[in-house]
Amino acid sequence: MKFSEFGLSPEIMEGIDAMGYEQATPVQQQVLPLILNGRDVLASAQTGTGKTAAFVLPIIHKIITEPHDTNSINALIIVPTRELAIQIAQNIEGMSYFTNVSAIAVYGGGDGDLFTVEKKALSKGVDIAICTPGRFIAHLNMGYVKLNGLKYLVLDEADRMLDMGFMGDIQKIISFLPKQRQNLLFSATMPPKIKELANKLLHQPEYVNI
Ligand code: AMP
Repeated sequence: MKFSEFGLSPEIMEGIDAMGYEQATPVQQQVLPLILNGRDVLASAQTGTGKTAAFVLPIIHKIITEPHDTNSINALIIVPTRELAIQIAQNIEGMSYFTNVSAIAVYGGGDGDLFTVEKKALSKGVDIAICTPGRFIAHLNMGYVKLNGLKYLVLDEADRMLDMGFMGDIQKIISFLPKQRQNLLFSATMPPKIKELANKLLHQPEYVNI
């Protein structure tokens, strides 16, 4: 299936072309239309399947084409590691290159200057924030993170976050978010704790198993 069949906006198609993607991968074929339709999704998909573009492309499309609050984070992507946060941010940069959508990676272990840059973006309302849990909570606790207009929550590599002991942090982050939002949960494996989280978090989800 070609990307042109999804009805994505022309400036996103330009980004996809520039990145050299032609055919959508299986996870993209299944997940992308569901997200465009506003559904909550629970997807079992490994790294390397193209899962990042499967959630990032429809989110960028919706930010561009639907009313959006420019003074708030619109999409929050929670990931287990700094490497993954940086990788997703770079991917978004490529795919949104011809749009005016903004994104920032927010992760622990960086220096003080980085914290200041993150603070600026989070308090101004960056469109997409890709965050490791502990670092995002550090910002949340300071009270300036703008979340009123948040519409999309992605938990990526949820099983890894569970293994790393982040479940408490994730519950806390969720408690700060507006209730009315689209939730997407990606996990390579589906242990009982992830199913439990999915039951609590997702509203009438679609299940995708790659
Ligand atoms: P991911 O599973 O999201 O980490 O993606 C794995 C790799 O595949 C990344 O380097 C992506 O840039 C690349 N990729 C994702 N979707 C496609 C596609 N449809 N065609 C070619 N490469 C892709």
